[in-house]
Amino acid sequence: MNLAFKQPPKATHSLDSIADALLLPSGIDGVYARTAVFEQVVNGLTDLISEYREPNTEVLRFPPVMSRRQVEKSGYLKSFPHFLGCVSCLSGEEHEIRAALDDHESGQDWTPALAPADLVLSPAACYPLYPLAASRGQIPEQGLLFDVACDCFRREPSKMLDRLQSFRMREYVCIGTPGQIDVFRRRWMKLAEGFAARLGLSWGIDHASDPFFGRGGKMMAASQVEQALKFELLIPVRSAEQPTACMSFNYHRDHFGTTWNIRTANGEVAHTGCVAFGIDRLALALFATHGLELLRWPAGVRKALTV
Ligand code: ATP
Ligand code: ZN
Ligand code: MG
Repeated sequence: MNLAFKQPPKATHSLDSIADALLLPSGIDGVYARTAVFEQVVNGLTDLISEYREPNTEVLRFPPVMSRRQVEKSGYLKSFPHFLGCVSCLSGEEHEIRAALDDHESGQDWTPALAPADLVLSPAACYPLYPLAASRGQIPEQGLLFDVACDCFRREPSKMLDRLQSFRMREYVCIGTPGQIDVFRRRWMKLAEGFAARLGLSWGIDHASDPFFGRGGKMMAASQVEQALKFELLIPVRSAEQPTACMSFNYHRDHFGTTWNIRTANGEVAHTGCVAFGIDRLALALFATHGLELLRWPAGVRKALTV
């Protein structure tokens, strides 16, 4: 990658050398216990992001699971089946559940008795919002703004600390006309630069695409770049050659509007866009840039995060 980073950092601390103080292994790649110092920074980030909330923004916090039906209908299953985690449970009569336990106790596999539930693990914070917004009727003339968050799951196990299976996502979402989404996204790409600078982070913004599933996915990704539907704020967390996407700026055009029949005030299909903050990645970026000792972080950064 040949991205010119703004504000090159003075010292970058190798993630491997500081990992033990931040994220403790669970035995599963990409799933960690978070230490107090890590959470202190996460809380600081959460509050700082709230400071950027614009007037008339509705706040919603979603649980880590959502309706399987909604994820199927939204197109996530079609585009990213390889990432989706589905909840499955033991169900049926007592004797059927007991048989599964007996299988386990006798050293056999008990999991064939599992049956899929009507839940999936949420893959992104904004997915549950669109059907909810649609259920309320037409979008007012000025459009709608939301502040959403949830714990997300994606089945992409990795040894890299910045690629987790379970991570936290915060998003600002806009629903309205194409023009309103364009203004919203441009405004946020500018705001994000100030946000990164305030945190003493080095950053670059670049076009990006999503890793759509399968052979056809490559074409979808190419068209996403061509139409400039996704940008990312990249930070050299591990290295400048392979920077980490810590925020994304997404324009879905009429995808969710059509899927859920969301209409603007004049009856047209609404467009949507979202700005996502990868909370765990931003926290890692701060530690990689400024080190483990919060007291030694630049005064401005400490003030912004109240740490
Ligand atoms: P990447 O290109 O790194 O896979 P992405 O394009 O899949 O990221 P989005 O779908 O735009 O990311 O998700 C919004 C934000 O959530 C990302 O910018 C990133 O900060 C964070 N995020 C995404 N996947 C992960 C992950 N596996 N672990 C930690 N954070 C993640
Ligand atoms: Zn989103
Ligand atoms: Mg990804």
